[in-house]
Amino acid sequence: MKNEGIQPTTTMEKIVTLAKRRGFIFPNSEIYGGLNSCWDYGPLGVELKNNVKRAWWKRMVQGREDMVGLDAGILMHPRVWEASGHVEGFTDPLVDCKSCKQRFRADHITGEKCPECGGELTEPRKFNLMFRTHLGPVEEAAATVYLRPETAQGIFVNFLNILNSTRKKIPFGVAQIGKAFRNEITPGNFIFRTREFEQMEIEYFVQPGTDEKIFEDWLEERFNWYVNLGVDPERLRIREHTPDELAHYAKKCCDIEYLFPMGWSELEGIANRTDFDLRRHSESSGVRMDYFHQETGERFFPYVIEPSAGVDRATLCFLLDAYHEEPDKDEIRVVLRFHPELAPIKVTVLPLSRKEPLVAMAREIRSELARHWMPAYDDAKSIGRRYRRQDEIGTPYCVTVDFESLEDQAVTIRDRDSMEQIRVPVAELVPVLREKLGF
Ligand code: ATP
Repeated sequence: MKNEGIQPTTTMEKIVTLAKRRGFIFPNSEIYGGLNSCWDYGPLGVELKNNVKRAWWKRMVQGREDMVGLDAGILMHPRVWEASGHVEGFTDPLVDCKSCKQRFRADHITGEKCPECGGELTEPRKFNLMFRTHLGPVEEAAATVYLRPETAQGIFVNFLNILNSTRKKIPFGVAQIGKAFRNEITPGNFIFRTREFEQMEIEYFVQPGTDEKIFEDWLEERFNWYVNLGVDPERLRIREHTPDELAHYAKKCCDIEYLFPMGWSELEGIANRTDFDLRRHSESSGVRMDYFHQETGERFFPYVIEPSAGVDRATLCFLLDAYHEEPDKDEIRVVLRFHPELAPIKVTVLPLSRKEPLVAMAREIRSELARHWMPAYDDAKSIGRRYRRQDEIGTPYCVTVDFESLEDQAVTIRDRDSMEQIRVPVAELVPVLREKLGF
């Protein structure tokens, strides 16, 4: 088997600790004791997460003629969720332990007894995962709205608007990044499963009959997206849903899974949703949402291929997969080997001392670099310690300004991965770094 013998890169504890210590991810509302399974992205985390979203948008929208973007609202008409089936069916089977009172998803436990204390469990009951709130000041049923549990429906309800405004012809797709909310019964594993999260979703509209081939193309494209951004393909696999797992409207679904510390788990799902959503919204709203094919004169409901990824899960996967520990003299060097496009900081400027005019020169270099990439500046402690700090946050290059720099107008570039150093004139710094970073 392809992935046999492969291990997760590290433990979740190490990543959670590093993430907090270095400012990637903090516990939410920590001074009040935290809020269960809620997390905040810190100064480096927001850069990393934005880079993940940007890398997705760049490949999925900017790079493809057949794709356009959308940013629909989190609040939508409640009838959207009736038509989509979420009000009726977006439920998980919930069981309670009669002894220790813990709650579990019935489909996540194997035996009849509580996995925590061995106590007796209640019969499963349906628990709707949608968060409810009220529109306006009146708390009555008529004003009930939901926080969207997926971004997909914003695309379906805008199908005609997009078609009419862009004149796109099938096959074409719509991409969207945004927050989604699910009142998960058992959130956990750091940012893997939370109640507030972000999705990157594509609805790709195709002519029925071409759907199976296009499904396979998307599966490959999405798998390669992770690999091209540095994830070890040995820690990725594709798992097809069995007929009993398959959503009732889906013809086929495959998960791209990653070997997280808790085991193989879903990173992204690719589903063939058939014409279910457009048909349901047409019936429910009374607005015709079929497609007119100008060449053949036919009217039909397009089939939809949906690659649906989680921003937070992808961010966690990139963090974990970048993590390396390697012996270096008597110490352990921790390096996050991020792909340069994902690295929160692309280049850090390090003056050898805090004396003028060295500092002025270093600061000037930093602001010049800032016109091109996200830089940082660090003048605290020894140069060796500073390199280690940059390794640990995954900065691909450090630029060191020393006393000679004042004389020869040249600086040293140090490479995170090889630790090799080269001397370059300040005037050539930007083109040299551009060549190395690849952008
Ligand atoms: P799971 O089986 O893990 O609950 P799902 O199959 O319900 O996930 P989808 O509805 O297919 O998930 O959502 C698409 C993607 O959105 C998932 O692959 C995942 O990356 C992300 N996602 C879904 N739920 C969560 C969550 N609670 N926290 C973080 N990301 C999530």
